[in-house]
Amino acid sequence: MERLKQAIRTKGNVLSNEVLKVDTFLNHQVDVELMGAVGEEFARLFKDSEITKILTIESSGIAPSFMASARLAAPLIFARKKKSLTMNDNVFVSKVYSFTKRETNDITVSKDFLTSEDRVLIIDDFLANGQAALGLIDIVEQAGATVAGLGIVIEKSFQDGRKLIEEKGYRIESLARIHSLENGHVTFVDELVT
Ligand code: 5GP
Repeated sequence: MERLKQAIRTKGNVLSNEVLKVDTFLNHQVDVELMGAVGEEFARLFKDSEITKILTIESSGIAPSFMASARLAAPLIFARKKKSLTMNDNVFVSKVYSFTKRETNDITVSKDFLTSEDRVLIIDDFLANGQAALGLIDIVEQAGATVAGLGIVIEKSFQDGRKLIEEKGYRIESLARIHSLENGHVTFVDELVT
């Protein structure tokens, strides 16, 4: 998605060969217009997939999921990273190792919101080593629901996430695929000269 790639080029900050900071439009301050366009694009890509629920993870997955949920007329559920006081034990739980925080957390989703009838589109802000996505897939599988696909805003294609998810046979649509962050420079997969 060209508009997203342009935002990454002009507003992204390469912190290291592995980490991209995009807190001017996605991870802290939110560019609602751009995130609306991102959600619109997910809705377009998955319009024929009979999506009944969108599942993301708090907090950065929520903004890009909003418009997709509206356009696909499918409720948006966000997995919680900390169990809420109002949540009882009626939850699906999965363990997720966080790439950026270097710690393992339980993520939870109430059993009230996913059933075996559901066809779920999983959305997240980044795909790195795939741990967050695999945790969300695990929750959908625990519910006996169907993973209809994954929508990723920014994929770091030099890490293992895509491979792990494709090995499970799921469709992934990433709106920006980064080949490398080396030397402080963002190179996208579709810019590679072969
Ligand atoms: P994974 O579970 O695929 O290893 O990492 C995905 C999660 O880690 C994303 O939900 C995102 O919050 C965070 N993450 C991974 N890589 C980056 C990065 O380069 N920049 C930012 N801002 N977050 C990242």
